Amino acid sequence: MKTISDALALRNVIFTRLERATRIQDPERRKTLLSFVIAGAGPTGVELSGLFSEMRSHILEKDYPELNTCDLGNIYLIDGQDAVLAAMSKKTQGYTYENLKKYGVVIKLNTFVKDFKDDVVTLSDNTEIHSRNLIWAAGISARTFEGFKEENYGRGKRLKTDVNNLVEGYKNIYAIGDTSIVMGDKDYPGGHPQLAQVAIQQAKSLGKNLKNNTSEPFKYTDKGSMAIIGSNKAVTDGPDHKFFLKGFIAWCVWIFVHIMSLVNFRNRMRAFYDWMGYYINKDQSFRMIIRPKEKNKN
Ligand SMILES: Cc1cc2nc3c(=O)[nH]c(=O)nc-3n(C[C@H](O)[C@H](O)[C@H](O)COP(=O)(O)OP(=O)(O)OC[C@H]3O[C@@H](n4cnc5c(N)ncnc54)[C@H](O)[C@@H]3O)c2cc1C
Repeated sequence: MKTISDALALRNVIFTRLERATRIQDPERRKTLLSFVIAGAGPTGVELSGLFSEMRSHILEKDYPELNTCDLGNIYLIDGQDAVLAAMSKKTQGYTYENLKKYGVVIKLNTFVKDFKDDVVTLSDNTEIHSRNLIWAAGISARTFEGFKEENYGRGKRLKTDVNNLVEGYKNIYAIGDTSIVMGDKDYPGGHPQLAQVAIQQAKSLGKNLKNNTSEPFKYTDKGSMAIIGSNKAVTDGPDHKFFLKGFIAWCVWIFVHIMSLVNFRNRMRAFYDWMGYYINKDQSFRMIIRPKEKNKN
């Protein structure tokens, strides 16, 4: 999942699966439709699995009473590393792990998704999970361009640059943000995380260098990171993991930061009003399946 259209497509698929499950009598087929496997326990994977489990508790019972008595399958969160939210602090990881477990999410660490075929997700320990739904939240590959050599690309097909954002081996091609990986920053030997703050700070740093004809090396300032687990539950790590917030306070911080990041006052008020409505009612009333018009059909 990367773009807004990916998210909308995913939302449509989930509602379509739920609708279909209400019409299927075979319990095994129904369970396959209702089991969700999420590859990648970074913020996106954690947020999705928490959201799915809350949806099960608050929405299914009301909107899909036909499913109340059947086996809804499981929500699986799979990661190749030994912790959820591997880039965050140990306290954050522990709190998130415990709470997702309480939500009923099945977490498998040190395990990779190996294959997905015929409604079976196969893991690196050869476990087979019968599910129609595999959601990839394990990172994205950057787009590649003709003309660059194979060695210009680093991990995730990101263009390797020096600390001034110049693509290695070139004097006039710069790369910043998700599509680049800075080599030679001793604080980030494996490259910076693919985060909005890295992209924003790189843009400012390169813009300044180009404007002033200088070559100040890029230095990333960690402003902290956060993830939401469910209503009233989030985690926040301060800059360089100097402090840690959890639960309701972290959830309020998450809401505040995301509301304030929206463009203009009207959007902020609107989003805040909507979110408070969802929070109080535990319900997002707008649950229609929306698809673009299919080609060759009027
Ligand atoms: C599901 C998800 C959740 C995330 N959550 C967070 C979060 O909570 N906090 C956070 O800090 N980061 C988050 N990120 C990461 C964050 O979105 C990225 O790090 C950030 O958007 C990178 O900015 P960018 O400008 O490098 O790339 P992008 O935001 O991807 O922008 C690149 C733009 O270039 C366009 N483009 C691509 N190819 C071409 C071309 N050939 N010509 C012209 N235009 C082109 C694309 O269409 C796109 O509009 C998340 C990412 C994902 C996928």
